[in-house]
Amino acid sequence: MPVDEQPADEQPTRRRPVIGVLAVQGDVREHVAALNACGAEPRLVRRPQELEGLDGLVVPGGESTTIDRLSRIFGLHEPVRRLIAEGLPVYGSCAGMIQLADEILDGHAEQQTFGGIDMTVRRNAFGRQVDSFETGLQIRGLPQDGRPFPAVFIRAPWVERLGEDVEVLAEVEGHPVAVRQGRLLATSFHPEVTGDHRVHALFVELCSG
Ligand code: GLN
Repeated sequence: MPVDEQPADEQPTRRRPVIGVLAVQGDVREHVAALNACGAEPRLVRRPQELEGLDGLVVPGGESTTIDRLSRIFGLHEPVRRLIAEGLPVYGSCAGMIQLADEILDGHAEQQTFGGIDMTVRRNAFGRQVDSFETGLQIRGLPQDGRPFPAVFIRAPWVERLGEDVEVLAEVEGHPVAVRQGRLLATSFHPEVTGDHRVHALFVELCSG
């Protein structure tokens, strides 16, 4: 009998996807709470062994220069790059978006990224105009129930160049602020600091596929 015709109490329970949160710096706790709210099982990642067996990984918002430096010190840089190349779903918010960009502008001289998304991102691009702001966004790929997404930008980057495989999910004043390339997702803003978990739900879905 097909699974969806079985009585509810006989249906196999779906395993909660185990999603790592890179926990070297940034708003780790907020991502953990959002992932829990979406039915995932978050796992803090501070050392390479903690990357084993993940269904996905979140790179939080914070300070990309610090996340980069500590990831390299803790031996996480190369394994994360390898997992991205192997197709692990990864979501980056703000500093995390910077870390997923193949190329960055206004970075520190030594700054490196994990890369994975064929795009050029400018650090602190919105921050030069206004340090932080909130705006209601329509984001493609989220449940279309008409509610704009409360997008919080804090010294946020924007995308200046996009490869042809990168899909733009949302823009602010002509600048892409939410993008997806395959199983990699990035936003300039911080859905983890709002009570709206639709972006995390989309990512958990990507990790469950
Ligand atoms: N400006 C920060 C950076 O370059 C990102 C800010 C954020 O994550 N809120 O890493």
